[in-house]
Amino acid sequence: MILPIYTYGNAVLRKQAEEIGPDYPELKKLIDDMFETMYHADGVGLAAPQIGLPIRLLVIDLAPLKDEDPELGSFKTVMINPVMLEMSEEEVEGNEGCLSIPGISEKVFRAEWIKIQYFDADFKQHTEEFEDYIARVIQHEYDHLEGSLFTDHVNPLRRQMIKSKLNNIAKGKAQCDYKIK
Ligand code: ZN
Repeated sequence: MILPIYTYGNAVLRKQAEEIGPDYPELKKLIDDMFETMYHADGVGLAAPQIGLPIRLLVIDLAPLKDEDPELGSFKTVMINPVMLEMSEEEVEGNEGCLSIPGISEKVFRAEWIKIQYFDADFKQHTEEFEDYIARVIQHEYDHLEGSLFTDHVNPLRRQMIKSKLNNIAKGKAQCDYKIK
């Protein structure tokens, strides 16, 4: 089921999301719905707050990148209750967008390397290290669970320049071809 995506200005995007347990109601269906919603909107990552649920759950599928990089394109994950254990001091700059902030894309610095602990959809615990683009996408989605958005990381000058666009999204004037709230 395709769910509406909550856009910039919705309070749920600014909440610290809560951990969930294996008994969370219809968790498997929720995960399926999140993937479906993300695919429909042509995204590569989606965090639960973006569909209005302040819980620590995110999904990523980099399949759209498989033509340019088969290894990246095969990366797909579900992370429940992720905890960022380590982040490299070294940062790299890259372009980001967000399904909750349609029409805006900006350069953002992110840690080049991360170590993260999480539970998969079967509540099996993993501790893994990621770098480069995958690390960037995970940091972006993880931020959503902390109530943070990529525009918070944009340099002050650029942030000033996108301010009116953000205000328009908050007023419900966002234009995109997927269902928003
Ligand atoms: Zn996002």
